[in-house]
Order: sequence, then structure tokens, then C-alpha cells
Amino acid sequence: MTTGDFAYWRGGFVPLADAKISITTHALNYGTGVFEGMVAVWDATAGQFLMFRVLDHYRRLHLSGRLLGISLERSPEDLTELTGQLLAMNPHRTDVYMRAVAYKSHEGVGVRLHDLADNFYAFSVPLNMTFQSDAITCCIASWRRYDDNVVPTRAKVTGMYVNNSLARTEAVKNGFSEALMLNQDGYVCEACGENIFIVEGDRLVTPGLEEGILPGITRDAIIQLARGELGMETVERRVSRGQLYAADECFLTGSLSGVKPVKSVDHRPIGVGGTGPVTHRLQELYLKAMYGHLPTYRHWLTSVSV
Ligand code: PMP
Repeated sequence: MTTGDFAYWRGGFVPLADAKISITTHALNYGTGVFEGMVAVWDATAGQFLMFRVLDHYRRLHLSGRLLGISLERSPEDLTELTGQLLAMNPHRTDVYMRAVAYKSHEGVGVRLHDLADNFYAFSVPLNMTFQSDAITCCIASWRRYDDNVVPTRAKVTGMYVNNSLARTEAVKNGFSEALMLNQDGYVCEACGENIFIVEGDRLVTPGLEEGILPGITRDAIIQLARGELGMETVERRVSRGQLYAADECFLTGSLSGVKPVKSVDHRPIGVGGTGPVTHRLQELYLKAMYGHLPTYRHWLTSVSV
């Protein structure tokens, strides 16, 4: 955070330092918020940001809100526009992460979702990382991902990230980079902030929505890029732990991670134990799409000139 940063807060742009909530806020006490994490790359030559699939993120935010009873006054199109204004207003001219949250802003206690005021905020922070990561080590967490009958898994609910946080901390404390979570039926579901793919021969395999995954926007982009650019189909089906260990390649996808290769799971090397060739090509294609170098996918980007 720098002093010149702004946030969108209670219907207008204010200095980030002034965007504060009361300790009695419902969302703080009960985790009753829904959110999105989005990225924009900075194109220094053209002097513009390229926001990646922000409209799709805001459509998912609207869906999350609908499932939780949190209403958003502004349309996904309006929110996209507002986020562009925020980027232009903020001082950073580098790749950035944008966070948008719709939440129960009611001040007072009481477990429920109805009859409570809603609000929305957004802020952006500079990203000090690249989207091209080296292969990482993973483990299967002892914590399982919650089921759709616990909390709707299609919704990106702030409070439910305690589940992901438990899994990630367990993994990191045990010396791994990331945790993979099984669902309540014991099948591979996703990582703590990413979806998972495996390569089996000439096709990609990824758990389907009925496995309780968050429907990732990067996941969808990879399915489209694999089909359109590599002629590889993606099968959405159950993946058992053994099928994961036996995969030719494995990678994770997420807005912040891009395409992240997995070199081992539970100390077992996946394929060659590094970044596999399909993963490598998808990493490159995804980066090209993000920077607007693939005309077919240019509609994924919203440019913000500054
Ligand atoms: N699963 C979880 C639990 C996540 O938090 C994320 C990040 N939003 C993803 C998957 C990947 O989703 P996306 O590609 O839309 O960022």
C-alpha cells in the first residue's frame, strides 16, 4: 500500500486509508461476504492496463451474491468500468491485483442473512511476482473441501476461506508449497486458491463442477486455449488420488497463479517431476492471451488507458 492509493468504498472513491469498517460489521464477525480476485497486466509500451476477464469475474460475483442473498446495486458492466477508473486513479504502473468484495455491512450481531444492509468495496495492490512460476511441490491436505450442502461451492464466500487457510498452512508447515484438497467423497477437488488439471496421454482431465470446485475463470480459459490452440480436449470427470499420482503432468490454474506446474504430490514425482511439455505450452499461451498477443482471445481483455 502507498499513501496515494484509492479504494472504491460506500459509493465513491476515497483514500484507501480512510476506507475502514466498524468491529461490529456483520461480515467481519460471520464471514458473510463474497469476493473476487482479479489481475491486470501493465503494458508500458501502450501505456495501458489490460484487465483479464474482469466482466466474467463480476458475473461470478453477482452469482455468489445471489446464492448468499447479498445484493449488488451495480451491474457487472458498471463494476468493470469502476475497476478501470480505480486502476487509472491509483499510482501504480505495474501488474496489479484487484480485490472486490460485496458483504453484509450491517453493524450488529445476529446469525442470519436476511434483513441486513449490503455494501461493496474494491481496491488494487501492485503485484510483485510473475505469472510464470517454477514447478511446485504439493500434498493432499488432511482438511477436505466443504460440500455444496454445507455452503454453495460455486459462490466465492469470504468466510469459507478458513477451510483453504487450514489446508495451506498445514501444507506449508509440512514443507510443501501448496495443498490439494479432496472433496467429501474423497476425490480430488482443487487447491487452496486454484483449480487442478492433470494430463493423461493426449487429453486434459479436470474435476467437474459436481465435485464441489469453484468454477475458475482461468480454468475455463485453459479449457478454451487447449482446445483452440493445441487441439486438446478436456474431460471433466472424477479424479481419484491414485489417478493424480499416476498422471503424466499436473498443473494448477488461478487468476493470481496463472498456470502453475506441479512437480510432485505427497513426495511422488508427477511424470518427469518438473514442468511437463503440455503445461509449458499452456503457460506460454495463457501469458500471450493476457498480454493481448492472441487476437482470438482479445475479447477477454478490457484495456484501461492512463
Ligand atoms: N478455487 C479457489 C478456491 C479459488 O480461490 C480460486 C481463485 N479465485 C480458484 C479456484 C481459481 O479461480 P479463478 O481462475 O477464477 O481465479
